[in-house]
Amino acid sequence: MAEKTSTSQNHIHEDPEEKIADAARRLVIKALRRGYTIETLNNIFASSVSLAGGVLAAVRRVKGASKPAACRAGCNYCCHLQVEISVPELLSLVSYVNENFSPEEMEALKARVHEAELQTRGMNSYERLFARVLCPLLSDGQCSVYPARPLVCRGYNSYNWAICAQDLNYPRSWRLIPHDSAQKNIYSDVLEGLSSGLKEEGLSSDFLELIAALHIALDQPDAGERWLAGEPVFQSAVAPEE
Ligand code: SF4
Repeated sequence: MAEKTSTSQNHIHEDPEEKIADAARRLVIKALRRGYTIETLNNIFASSVSLAGGVLAAVRRVKGASKPAACRAGCNYCCHLQVEISVPELLSLVSYVNENFSPEEMEALKARVHEAELQTRGMNSYERLFARVLCPLLSDGQCSVYPARPLVCRGYNSYNWAICAQDLNYPRSWRLIPHDSAQKNIYSDVLEGLSSGLKEEGLSSDFLELIAALHIALDQPDAGERWLAGEPVFQSAVAPEE
């Protein structure tokens, strides 16, 4: 494990984005020092979600509510974009699937993940814009892991579903999607801090591509324990550079 020398005194930040990331970094370190277990990773994910949600609520209290989001259940135009995920998020998502999916739903999910992995293997986020492969976690058009969805998915938002639809159907139109940037940035800052905390504790801090990582985690039930022991189990799922 990496030498544990960093303390909060060494990380004094004035920038709000850095403060959020630093809070996430500290929660990861505090949790891991109680034990390197899957349960700890699940707790890290839950705490990260609470942190981001709390900061966003505080920002909205101070700055006023944002415009209403166009995002609704069953609206999944953004669910073809590449999602980058940390290992604690991935393993929490798999824990949710294990606890909530029937054997038939699990088999169906594995089949969708296998198919999507073949269609997207090696693609970067730019190539994914044009591949239009829907996330295999969609079931009947809805996110089947909504309570355990990744931080990136929680941050993504839109004020205008029609532009999202156009973005999916005509990716070369390059329309900017109007959105609440505070929501997007806060979840992104928490994810950055989470990654820093993992690195500081000697764990891999790479961001993984969701479909490739899920393919490994569903296929190898002991992947999480092996990753905690330092094995590069998810190396082939590291999100490709653009
Ligand atoms: S995890 Fe859920 S919200 Fe995120 S891309 Fe997949 S289906 Fe959409």
